Amino acid sequence: MTKYKLEYIWLDGYKPVANLRGKTQIKEFDSFPSLEELPLWGFDGSSTEQAEGSSSDCVLKPVAVYPDPARKNGVLVMCEVMMPDGVTPHPSNTRAEIMDDEGAWFGFEQEYFFYEDGRPLGFPEQGYPAPQGPYYTGVGYKNVGSIAREIVEEHLDQCLEAGINHEGINAEVAKGQWEFQIFGKGSKKAADQIWIARYLLLRICEKYGIDIEWHCKPLGDTDWNGSGMHCNFSTKYMREVGGKAYFEKLMAQFEKNLQDHIDVYGPDNHMRLTGKHETAPWNKFSYGVADRGASIRVPHSFVNNGYKGYLEDRRPNSQGDPYAIASQVLKTVSEVENEMSAAA
Ligand code: ADP
Ligand code: MN
Ligand code: MN
Ligand code: MN
Repeated sequence: MTKYKLEYIWLDGYKPVANLRGKTQIKEFDSFPSLEELPLWGFDGSSTEQAEGSSSDCVLKPVAVYPDPARKNGVLVMCEVMMPDGVTPHPSNTRAEIMDDEGAWFGFEQEYFFYEDGRPLGFPEQGYPAPQGPYYTGVGYKNVGSIAREIVEEHLDQCLEAGINHEGINAEVAKGQWEFQIFGKGSKKAADQIWIARYLLLRICEKYGIDIEWHCKPLGDTDWNGSGMHCNFSTKYMREVGGKAYFEKLMAQFEKNLQDHIDVYGPDNHMRLTGKHETAPWNKFSYGVADRGASIRVPHSFVNNGYKGYLEDRRPNSQGDPYAIASQVLKTVSEVENEMSAAA
């Protein structure tokens, strides 16, 4: 038997953006534990905005498990928060009832800022660094500084070791801003991995004395880039059948459901989706081939393959909840696909 360090990770009840929480319990197993072997656990919900003090127990239900690359015999256990009965999802549990489908694939591009002493990493104490231009995909000390790359490399390695489907990294448009991409099949699988990747990034940064600023427009109404979490998506139908008529119906449905999408695409998105800096205004739906100023970008390959493949919704932001985002995308796409199959 081996003593494993199980890190139970969950989302708290803070609004509008939940924080990641985690605590450790030690348990003995013959070998690396499977999901089914992991017990329910509890925590004090009155300390996480998830319960009143008088009746404060909340239940943690393991839903996904990964090896913890930073700990000897470590296990990362993604959990849903349940009511004391252990079966009713807690109101803060945005994962339990989302739409899911293994045939729906999601690629999230998570952007974020490194922050040190309350400002983006590499910003001078007063004023601003040289304007944007050389930072995106940049190389060299004056563009990316000395620590950022060390952190993103360590994060990449830890994600890969944990079995996260990490697909890539790049320095972003603003100084101190970076991006990583994660791909998953199914809403829950893709979104769980984003949350674990966020967790790993935060945890790695502790020892560097650096914070992650997830806000979508941390530098406010300036020319400095905001942070998105573009959601690239495809369903089996989109990849294998597609077609122009389907595509046009799909875009009409996205336009009709505009508000439902914006409602879950992350807080303060009106600050970011202004129509400037490769964004479309939040209150007007648009799409275009290779158009980075549209709400939805249609890759050239999609059109060239007879309107088949994947699409990129550029509106979700860096603070968005990937469970809610994936679910809403799937809901809109399903409305169209159900209509198509009913008509066929
Ligand atoms: P860009 O910065 O040009 O928008 P990235 O390379 O950062 O592009 O991101 C592209 C994303 O598209 C990746 O996250 C990738 O996983 C995703 N993707 C690629 N093919 C598919 C597909 N068939 N279905 C869903 N997502 C996909
Ligand atoms: Mn990208
Ligand atoms: Mn980007
Ligand atoms: Mn993108």
